[in-house]
Amino acid sequence: MSSILSNAHKHILDLVAYEPGKPVEELAREMGLEPSQIIKLASNENPLGPSPAALQAMRDTLERSHFYPDGGAWALRNAIAEKLDLKRENVILGNGSNEIIEFIGHAFLKPGDEVVTAGHAFAVYNLMAQLFGARTVEVPDPGFTHDLEAMLAAVTPKTRQLFIANPNNPTGTLVGQEAIDRFMERVPEHVLVIFDEAYFEFLDNPPDVLRYVREDRNVVVMRTFSKIQGLANLRIGYGLAPARIAEVLQKTRQPFNANGIAQAGALAGLRDEVHMRRTRELTHDGRNYLEAEFTKMGLTFVPSVANFVLVQVGDGDAVFKALLKRGVIVRAMRSYKLPDWIRVSVGTMEQNRRFIEELELLNKAGLFKTGKTA
Ligand SMILES: *Cc1c(COP(=O)(O)O)cnc(C)c1O
Repeated sequence: MSSILSNAHKHILDLVAYEPGKPVEELAREMGLEPSQIIKLASNENPLGPSPAALQAMRDTLERSHFYPDGGAWALRNAIAEKLDLKRENVILGNGSNEIIEFIGHAFLKPGDEVVTAGHAFAVYNLMAQLFGARTVEVPDPGFTHDLEAMLAAVTPKTRQLFIANPNNPTGTLVGQEAIDRFMERVPEHVLVIFDEAYFEFLDNPPDVLRYVREDRNVVVMRTFSKIQGLANLRIGYGLAPARIAEVLQKTRQPFNANGIAQAGALAGLRDEVHMRRTRELTHDGRNYLEAEFTKMGLTFVPSVANFVLVQVGDGDAVFKALLKRGVIVRAMRSYKLPDWIRVSVGTMEQNRRFIEELELLNKAGLFKTGKTA
């Protein structure tokens, strides 16, 4: 029987969709719980919410919902450029920074091309490669840290893109300036290097890769308002690239990809240093607390510089499900080839304590074996 689906791209039919963190409302429905009893520590969201200034700006902009947004996003792109000592021409907005990955695919990938990532890289890189029929080459990451030498060695004439998430999700690890500089000295001209800095603002001592944008190298740096700014729901992020590259990416996007409410919230949030500092402090304290409690419980974890921690619990799926039943949403890691780990986002101190209490109950009930190595 001939089917319309036989006309679809095979690489699209083979795609396995991204599995997001479970929304609070969905779990409430499934388990018969009150949404207010549920805590979500599954998607690295900001437990403080958006900045009050961002909320006000978005409320004001709601009144103008009948107008199309500024498709060129002049105000926000200028503000980002000014803050980072770049030019507006270097900045491209995405419907979430994830959309920037798609733009790069549209512009540069064709079937048969290769995309180099770390072994435990953010899932969306592989998804987007598949969308364009490209092949992902995953390079082992000993100690859960990107091995830039090995990634360089994995580059072939077919390589078009190489992703460095810094810090990486789901591992929370960072590669430092020296390793990056050595890598950038040797990476061939036919490879576009993408630095994904979704958690940049959480770092105490961030490496500088914007110098490579200013030096007109083949790089795209991605950042987002989803994490430190607490605007994940709005879907707004950005890419920073040399003008000649940004200009090509601009051609791949829809005219109004970043909505006006998101633009207004992002612009106000960008200026709210107080909210960012509070978020950073809450994250540091919460992460220290979680890591100290894991140590007490004899659990192996990957020391993190981001707003989440990867921790080894034995049967990750079982622990994930048991926590769900108790109204605590974390992330199971089987899809990241880490079936005995879970990833937990840093929440408010109250949420962190509740998570640890539930985890201790599971430990006492013998649900997971502690201190096991991978
Ligand atoms: C959360 C995250 C993003 C951000 O995605 P948005 O589309 O901006 O919400 C990008 N990269 C990594 C590695 C992330 O963890």
